[in-house]
Amino acid sequence: MKTIDLVVPCYNEEEGLEHFVNETNKVIDSLPDYKFRYILVNDGSRDKTYLVMKNLAKRFKNIKYISFSRNFGKEAAMYAGLQHTGGDYVVVMDADLQHPPALFPQMIDAIEKEGYDCCATRREAREGESALRGFFSKMFFGLSNKLTDVSMPYGAMDYRMMTRQMVDSILELGEVQRFSKGIFSWVGFNTKWISFKTVDRQLGKTTWKFSSLFKYAIDGITCFSVAPLRFTAVMGAIIFFISLIYIIITLIQTLFFGITTPGYVTTLCAVLFLGGITEMSIGILGEYIGRIYMEAKDRPIYIVKHSNFDEEIDREKDTDEE
Ligand code: UDP
Ligand code: MG
Repeated sequence: MKTIDLVVPCYNEEEGLEHFVNETNKVIDSLPDYKFRYILVNDGSRDKTYLVMKNLAKRFKNIKYISFSRNFGKEAAMYAGLQHTGGDYVVVMDADLQHPPALFPQMIDAIEKEGYDCCATRREAREGESALRGFFSKMFFGLSNKLTDVSMPYGAMDYRMMTRQMVDSILELGEVQRFSKGIFSWVGFNTKWISFKTVDRQLGKTTWKFSSLFKYAIDGITCFSVAPLRFTAVMGAIIFFISLIYIIITLIQTLFFGITTPGYVTTLCAVLFLGGITEMSIGILGEYIGRIYMEAKDRPIYIVKHSNFDEEIDREKDTDEE
């Protein structure tokens, strides 16, 4: 019997977690040929998610949980979950039922019958989401496909089922600043894309703000490409050549025709333009140096406070309120 691990990052999901498990169990019960196991990762929630998780684990034998010492972010939670998997197939999904478990049979078929290593999802329609967010997400996918050597179809999501082999490859990438969408694509293997209509989150609320989406986009590009660095170098070269021509023209004018331009506006434009370009280039450079700095520290990606993976160590000492 094949085993399937479900990795579920949870942040402030006290309202919806139980509902998620109940709904997912319905699908699991319809697939008696597979043994499912939940790996719930509590990413330092501020609400009672941990207690809900612990109670669920008492009720259902196949629920394992890991609880972080603070909020480390969804990427860290996914990584922790993946590290604790052992099943033949691994699913990564959200706890808010925006990733319908009803797709499991289709995903299993893609891997077993069609021979894919991964069956990933992309969103079809962006109902209930603002036009602005849609525009930026389109721009993000377009830009990152052009600039990086990883390719992602528009609307690609983290929700996917992968083979053990693929998960092991993903775990070999131990970088601190993780960008899973890129990593999933970077490791290669054959991916089948299936699309589905997204629904609004029913319980709890989304934790993503516009600023974090922007940061996410910058991360996505800088983690997988040095194109912005090359862009600054090319820009510098172009400006250098243009100014060279300008200098020659000015010299000829002054030496041979005796024209001296007062050029207040020209000077001001040049100073401001070059100042802007320099600032921007330093900014891009700084982005990468910052990344090197964070990677060089080599800090752990997450810190576990409680877990029922090793009941022996954990015992019942973790009865404190979260
Ligand atoms: N999540 C997490 N850590 C965070 C933020 C979110 O583990 O810091 C989890 C969250 O519990 C959910 C998933 O990541 O299971 C997606 O989050 P959300 O639904 O808020 O994002 P969206 O669906 O809007 O992309
Ligand atoms: Mg969601």
